[in-house]
Amino acid sequence: MEVQVLVNAPPPPRSSALPRSTLRSGLVFDARMKLHMEPESNDHPEKPKRIQAIWDTLYRAGLVQQWEDMVEDPDKLWNIEARHAEKGEVTMVHSKEHWKFVRSLPGRELKELTEMGSERDSIYFNAQTPDSATIAAGGAIEACKLVALDKLKNAIALIRPPGHHAERAEPSGFCIFNNVAIAAKVCQAQLPEICRKVMVLDWDVHHGNGIQHAFYNNPNVLYISLHVYKNGTFYPNGPDGDHLHCGEGPGEGKNVNIPWIDHGMGDYDYLYAFEEIVIPIAREFNPDLVIVAAGFDAAEGDELGGCHVSPPGYAHMTHKLMELAQGRLAVCLEGGYNLDSISKSALAVTKTLMGEPPDRLPGQDADALDSKVSKLGAATVELVKKQQAKWWHCMRQKQPPGPRLTPQSVQMHDLVKSWRNMLFDRDYGMQTMTIDRNVLHECFEDNVLVSDNFFEAGSRPLLVIFHDPPDYDVVNDPTNEILQNELHNSWLTDGTKTYVDWAYNHDFAIVDINIPKVMEDWPVDRGDYQPARPLEDRVIATREIAKYMWENFIEIGDFSDVFLMGVGDASSGLVEFLGAQVNADESPLRHIFTFLAESPLRSIKRATDDYIGIWYYQHSHVYINHQHHVWQYQRLRKLRKKYGKTIQSEYETIGQMLEEAKDNVIRILLEETEDWRAEHAEQKQKLKSAPSALKLEERDMRASSAPNALRSPSGMPPIGMFSVTSPSPRSPAKRS
Ligand SMILES: [Zn+2]
Repeated sequence: MEVQVLVNAPPPPRSSALPRSTLRSGLVFDARMKLHMEPESNDHPEKPKRIQAIWDTLYRAGLVQQWEDMVEDPDKLWNIEARHAEKGEVTMVHSKEHWKFVRSLPGRELKELTEMGSERDSIYFNAQTPDSATIAAGGAIEACKLVALDKLKNAIALIRPPGHHAERAEPSGFCIFNNVAIAAKVCQAQLPEICRKVMVLDWDVHHGNGIQHAFYNNPNVLYISLHVYKNGTFYPNGPDGDHLHCGEGPGEGKNVNIPWIDHGMGDYDYLYAFEEIVIPIAREFNPDLVIVAAGFDAAEGDELGGCHVSPPGYAHMTHKLMELAQGRLAVCLEGGYNLDSISKSALAVTKTLMGEPPDRLPGQDADALDSKVSKLGAATVELVKKQQAKWWHCMRQKQPPGPRLTPQSVQMHDLVKSWRNMLFDRDYGMQTMTIDRNVLHECFEDNVLVSDNFFEAGSRPLLVIFHDPPDYDVVNDPTNEILQNELHNSWLTDGTKTYVDWAYNHDFAIVDINIPKVMEDWPVDRGDYQPARPLEDRVIATREIAKYMWENFIEIGDFSDVFLMGVGDASSGLVEFLGAQVNADESPLRHIFTFLAESPLRSIKRATDDYIGIWYYQHSHVYINHQHHVWQYQRLRKLRKKYGKTIQSEYETIGQMLEEAKDNVIRILLEETEDWRAEHAEQKQKLKSAPSALKLEERDMRASSAPNALRSPSGMPPIGMFSVTSPSPRSPAKRS
């Protein structure tokens, strides 16, 4: 199946001392690729003018050698003779049926061609389609081969119809044959010694589904695509372009999707992705040839793409790719529909290929690069780096030397726990509750704090907070990249304390439950890295402790109004528990508040009760971090009621969000407890006027029902003057 097509050879390097840089840059342009056009109208975005407009721009810039010029100008582009791709070449990527189908088009009636186009996904055909499509593929092959063979320094191929959406057996998305994929396969097959590993970088604003699929299990083709993904709602739609699609079998890790969360990405986002992902991974892969699937629809001015890459932005990306594979770089046109944008972008790329340094970026004079990266752009890059760390050393966090422990070393989370317990005791008289280890996971030991009035007689409101460990922040030396982790630059934000404080001052009973990120039964050597327990494990643990507290205390207690608060991942378990357990109509449960930064949003579920979603919506406030991915989703479709009453916070961290919501939460707490407060005030008044009997009675009750406490409840004689009993948590003291 060896296919060799001979073409005119470019001249050798002008200087043997500079064997690669004095080679010529090549250009593919062939008017036969303008024959493919929409048969009935001429306003299809993928129109013949696209390649002509770019060629005209290169010509006006003085970069193009005319065929009729008698003398070769070594400072201009070498014209690569395009040719038809052969069947044997095209079928390295496409099925024989697909090849046969495309070749059959010239024999068909116009009406039939139009119909066949409209039946397919964003496709049109005319009688010249096979001509243009085989020239486009052949042009890509020649450009890549001449570069791989060191006949040209590098090349740009102005080809159409584009190719990266074309699948093995199906044209789609304006694409007939997958030009870049075909060129890569042909180079590998025909030049196995010098072109074993190929990298395809796809900067078209759309995901190149066809290229991804052509090499999905191929370890020798690295496909990296930067594209707008929008949760699978942007063309070509569906999940294939997400960051989780990384190749399979021997090709695992050789597919790198950089899926922008939204439109609007600009130079700094693209260059950040290049510096953080594309170039490090490419260096590690170490390709023999780099092919760019160069759509210019992420360019400023392309309405479909909605992104803002400037011509200098494209030049910088090109420049960075030129450091790979000893500069063996072939740029093949894909999409891009604003004639002005694609012409200027292609000109900037071509000049860079020819050796001209890239222009400064718009706005490059101020600030550091990463301060201009958009939040969404940075978030995408982080997501991809984490994912790709599985396969690429360069994507892993640089490890500082491991801790050097002595017997005196303690884990910070233990320290925080003791400090917190001490503080909550000092300020609110809250005590740790003894946990029945037969029923509950031991990780809850010392993690459940209750106020002393939790066990006391008398009706009162109850606030139960399920939360993740407090936010921990380190301020690093801005002039030094190495993490310092100094204690005096470390901050702990325990946002729930605001609410405990308020509840304490308003005579609420309070339960504060810390859901730890690690559970000690996972064997890790002291000092080794200890991953957090998976979210689902923590959801189960939260559900268990919620159930335990509910059944043993809350449900049978004398609480006038119950409020539940879920903070961070802990809220997931709380919502699961509510769905499974709580009888909304009969319980004193008044309202649920949850706070999510990065945690997933859970819906309430109960197989036997359709009403539960509406109930949850009416009785909840779900505060969500302002850049949480649900807001992307919500723009397309309103969130269902079963997710609760969702509110977009203006802030990012849980601590900030808790502070932001304070007034609103307190207003609800006050409104919902109005009856109790009126009654409570009356009782207090009575107590004042008739002190002796009532007060004594209350004191007796306090003493006999105090929790596992070592301190005296406020207003009581010091410890030692009377005995304190610990009620078993399974059989709490009953109240009247
Ligand atoms: Zn595109």
